[in-house]
Amino acid sequence: MPDYDVIIVGGGPAGSTAARRIAQRNLNVLLLDKATFPRVKPCAGGMTDRVRNVLDFSIDEVVQRRSFGQRVYSPSGDIVDCTRPVTTGDLLMRGDFDTLLLRKAEEAGAKVREGVNVVNAEQDADKVTVTTSEGERIEAKYLIGADGINSVVAKSLGFYKRWSAKDAAICIEIEAEVGEEAVERICGVPYEEKGVAVHIYFGPVPFGYIWCFPKKSILSLGAGCMQAKAKNIKGLFNKWFEDFKEKHDIDPKIISDTAARVPYSGAVKKTVIGRTILIGDAAGFVYPFSGEGIVLGVQSAIIAAPILEKAVANSNPRILTEFEKGWKQAFGSDLKVAKSTADLMFKSEKNLNTILRLAYEDQVIGDIMYKMIAGLDSYKNLQRQQVKRILTKHPRAGLSLYI
Ligand SMILES: Cc1cc2nc3c(=O)[nH]c(=O)nc-3n(C[C@H](O)[C@H](O)[C@H](O)COP(=O)(O)OP(=O)(O)OC[C@H]3O[C@@H](n4cnc5c(N)ncnc54)[C@H](O)[C@@H]3O)c2cc1C
Repeated sequence: MPDYDVIIVGGGPAGSTAARRIAQRNLNVLLLDKATFPRVKPCAGGMTDRVRNVLDFSIDEVVQRRSFGQRVYSPSGDIVDCTRPVTTGDLLMRGDFDTLLLRKAEEAGAKVREGVNVVNAEQDADKVTVTTSEGERIEAKYLIGADGINSVVAKSLGFYKRWSAKDAAICIEIEAEVGEEAVERICGVPYEEKGVAVHIYFGPVPFGYIWCFPKKSILSLGAGCMQAKAKNIKGLFNKWFEDFKEKHDIDPKIISDTAARVPYSGAVKKTVIGRTILIGDAAGFVYPFSGEGIVLGVQSAIIAAPILEKAVANSNPRILTEFEKGWKQAFGSDLKVAKSTADLMFKSEKNLNTILRLAYEDQVIGDIMYKMIAGLDSYKNLQRQQVKRILTKHPRAGLSLYI
């Protein structure tokens, strides 16, 4: 008999959520992560309330601030105010958040081993086997690859070879300690004392954007753009950062300076092979328009758990194919719409300016953009409303987006 019902490789939001939900179903589950937590994860640390709404425990202890929305700067200088007097998201440090999720998995009964680097995965008709860098071989009935964009599970088992430059975005990220007063001065909103919003700057980095996400006394600042089009992203970010420091009269202490890739082209072709499922970034579950991936990592884990329970109970790996149906039904079309929205926006600086100008001038389009950013409705519904509004009220501008 294999050692475990399920092995999960990767203890990010996707893997930890899967471990918790599977352990809650009384399965024998092992989670392996090469890092020791809390670990640094390059991330802006912003989550719409879609995440807290699907988790089965409070995350308040790790939330540094709540977000009142976003201020969006267009290349030509328009400022689209996508803030409102209500909070719709959390701002936190990923080290804290991911550690909480990992401990919640342990609390539910999952066995968690940190500092274990998986270097290979194999599967046959009866079991899966993972091999660690120490040469240890561990067996289970089923395997989940939740090991991010460089997934060893996916590569070992033939899901894909690697993420090509056209399918990924490249990001750099710094955590800048500026103090609470500066955070509130730079990112403050008029609705509440100490209330803040996230800032997004289009223009300084072609085919992408720069972000400023406020935490308690830290600003998470970074830049991301399509990898295939990336040219000197670090240099462009540094130039922007020099202006930013001067404009806001700050001299921050840089706590971390990291870089990472994130899937851009949506879900991979196959998310199930044999006895193995991919979830989270390993499966490409990231909204290309915003780079928001935590919510889909968590959602895909929640979809996977009951399917694994059924596969174990029936000793039938074919049941895993229900996972593909499950995620496609839950967010498959939304991912595609988010990709087409991103492709249209990032096609050219002209398109970015046109779309943001429309949002700036037309309150209805501004509201649609607000809802999209705040995760208040599906991309599919919102894009339909946006196209209708543009075609009826701004047909010439709408047409220009496709030329
Ligand atoms: C700069 C940047 C900013 C971002 N900002 C946001 C944001 O503000 N909001 C948002 O929603 N999303 C954001 N994202 C995307 C988000 O970080 C990911 O979508 C999310 O982390 C995916 O979760 P995951 O659990 O699938 O993978 P990850 O969080 O990447 O976790 C994978 C885990 O697997 C482990 N692992 C990897 N390989 C192995 C191995 N061989 N053996 C053992 N363990 C292994 C790693 O140590 C890691 O802990 C951002 C991404 C980047 C790069």
